[in-house]
Amino acid sequence: MENTMKNTQQVIQKAYAKINLGLDVLRRRQDGYHEVRMIMQTVDICDELVLERTPQAGIVLLTDRAELPTDKNNLIWKAADLLLRMKNIEEGVKITLTKRIPIAAGMAGGSADAAAAMRGLNELFDMGYSTKELQELGVKLGADIPYCLTGGTMLAEGIGEVLSPLPAPPDCFLVVAKPDIDVSTAFVYGSLHAERLSDHPDIDGMIGALKEGSLTGITDRLGNVLETVSVREYPVIERVKSLMREKGAHNALMSGSGPTVFGIFTKREEAEETAGLIREKGLAGQVFVTVWHKDAI
Ligand code: ATP
Repeated sequence: MENTMKNTQQVIQKAYAKINLGLDVLRRRQDGYHEVRMIMQTVDICDELVLERTPQAGIVLLTDRAELPTDKNNLIWKAADLLLRMKNIEEGVKITLTKRIPIAAGMAGGSADAAAAMRGLNELFDMGYSTKELQELGVKLGADIPYCLTGGTMLAEGIGEVLSPLPAPPDCFLVVAKPDIDVSTAFVYGSLHAERLSDHPDIDGMIGALKEGSLTGITDRLGNVLETVSVREYPVIERVKSLMREKGAHNALMSGSGPTVFGIFTKREEAEETAGLIREKGLAGQVFVTVWHKDAI
């Protein structure tokens, strides 16, 4: 058994996208980071990473999306470089990324990929890191990486790295729509005046609703303070939200810094129909009907 582990030549890892059921910003810290309280939830939209050992040192990254960097500017490269250096590994790795998560969308696609690369390298080179150790290393590369290492339903506090598991929301259907605009997370957080926010989402109420398993308790409390910046800048976000609500969504919200919007439906047909309508009207180029990805890894 041990022999097989040590000779592993190839590992496949899935990287799941997240949405935020709630996103509150408490304040901006001296160092520029924002203190947050977020309810994170993985959804069933994922990238796939194939990791292979190579005798020659170095990281080779291949992807099916021409617009993505394949050098040190890709979070996958940074994650692989960090782990290979930590363990003084002489061999190299080839990583092939199949991208399905919308890019620059507020779905933590880059962080999910980096987390999957960390899990994959840990297994490929039998590094022996625990999830907690990977999370401590991962936070150096991005505040969402510790969460992405496990996924599931979590309260994320601090800068996003202090995690407390929560029960998964009740089953439902989600329409996830990414309008054809790229939104910079740095711009949105940079434009937010946390101290001037008058409305804050009811994160504690949302935690209570998750614990009770109440879907309406959850959908009544969807809230994201970053909408104050992104919706003003990109009105299409509000248009998608309104359409989802008109067509039967219990509620709809922007995820992360946007522009992705998700709507929560109990009827599959209504979700499918709404997704079709969003495509037809040209409100979003990437539209999915999906479900929660419940299992924390
Ligand atoms: P978040 O929700 O964490 O703000 P996001 O969905 O807004 O994430 P990403 O898709 O993670 O944004 O990436 C934004 C930028 O990061 C892209 O413009 C891209 O050039 C760069 N990037 C680096 N590595 C990756 C990767 N593996 N996948 C996607 N983008 C990446």
